[in-house]
Amino acid sequence: MSTSTDDSLRLCLTTGIAAAKAGDKHQARLYLERVLRLQPSPEERVQALLYLQEIADDPVERRAYLEQILIFDPANPTARQELAILEGRLTRDQLRAPGASEETGPAPGPEPVPSRRFVCKNCGGIMRFDPWKGRLICQYCGHTILPSEAVQAGYVVVEGDFLTTLPTEAGHRWQRQSYVVQCAGCGSRIILSEGQFSASCPFCGSPQVARIELDPDVIPPHAILPFRVSQEQAVAAVQEWLGSGWFAPADLRRAVRLASIRRAYLPFWAFDFIGTVKWNALVQGGSEWRPTADALSIFEENVLVPASATVPATLLEQAMDFDLHELEPFAEEKLAGWPAELYQVSLADASIRARERVAHMARRRITGDFLAGKSYRALSLSTHMVNIDRFQHLLLPFWLLSYRYRDQLRQVVVNGQTGKVAGELPRTYAPLLILAGLALAVIAAFAVLIYLITSSGGLGAL
Ligand SMILES: [Zn+2]
Ligand SMILES: [Zn+2]
Repeated sequence: MSTSTDDSLRLCLTTGIAAAKAGDKHQARLYLERVLRLQPSPEERVQALLYLQEIADDPVERRAYLEQILIFDPANPTARQELAILEGRLTRDQLRAPGASEETGPAPGPEPVPSRRFVCKNCGGIMRFDPWKGRLICQYCGHTILPSEAVQAGYVVVEGDFLTTLPTEAGHRWQRQSYVVQCAGCGSRIILSEGQFSASCPFCGSPQVARIELDPDVIPPHAILPFRVSQEQAVAAVQEWLGSGWFAPADLRRAVRLASIRRAYLPFWAFDFIGTVKWNALVQGGSEWRPTADALSIFEENVLVPASATVPATLLEQAMDFDLHELEPFAEEKLAGWPAELYQVSLADASIRARERVAHMARRRITGDFLAGKSYRALSLSTHMVNIDRFQHLLLPFWLLSYRYRDQLRQVVVNGQTGKVAGELPRTYAPLLILAGLALAVIAAFAVLIYLITSSGGLGAL
């Protein structure tokens, strides 16, 4: 299907690439950035990003483009190579074909400091150094070791950023004791421990669940958050929530079967962002608009993005007030027979959603802080210099309830740690109609009263 948006997207892409090849960086950037905003396909996005990184003058900006390419195409050879050069892991000399003529390039700048990363021997996850404990800690299985011991024990050292290493290093090494079934009813994918058997889908009750072979690149859960809310507490929370809806229909309570509430771990992606948001706007000063620009430092930890296929993200986003300090490293025993859903929102898609959330937070901080009380217009901000520092695949606890009301299936979720409820509540306009009726009655009474007064007044004057 071809739409006008598709056409203008392709036009922007070809115009942008032509401008880049002709050396018109300004024009190229204008069109290529436009492509990114027009919901391009992954291939079109990567193509636009490849040219954008090529014309970027700022190495930080360039790095951000390269990382974005690797999110969509983790094996992209150009992006990997350019990133390796940018980080000093590779020089252009090493890439030069034998026999190629010597070039006299510009003098080399200061050596970039490569970041060293260790790979966990247990699970292949990337290890982080914890300065308080003085040890390296695996982000995935929690295994710890002293850095000196890690070197002696021959732990593989990966240099570079996680985006280039993780999709290939950690993803392949989920030594699963568990298996995954897919439900034909609701499409959910459920992680079951070996020996555990599910005859029906825990999310929709459909008996059509079948074991599936997993893509070897699937990323294992890194951490799991224990349940703190019991079934009784969850039921009480839903009851209170049902009672709080003033516009809720009277027969709703009968439609909700509280006994059918069930628990499940739902998948989330959590991102840590670090970097700078640049912004500019026109701010009114006296009678003129003055261009104003500034930068905002960003350090956002655990920006959560729901990755479930069964529960709508909009619902989960209303109930994700988690305290993630209680996260525990994932181990399959921790599922202990409770269903856990395997993510179906890809890491790449989730990272875009997370980046949007960071941009939104930055905008709120800018308008609520720097621009508070001022007249401004044309506020624009750029998150190119904000990088993903870390991501985690989390399993978070929820109580789930679905109910049918007037032939519509609706869902209610209860945060399994905090008890916060979010749900779809049918509304009725009966109370509104009563109010409107009352208002009409009052107006009518006044009209009658005024009529009586004026007519009796008229009589008196006669
Ligand atoms: Zn590990
Ligand atoms: Zn199902």
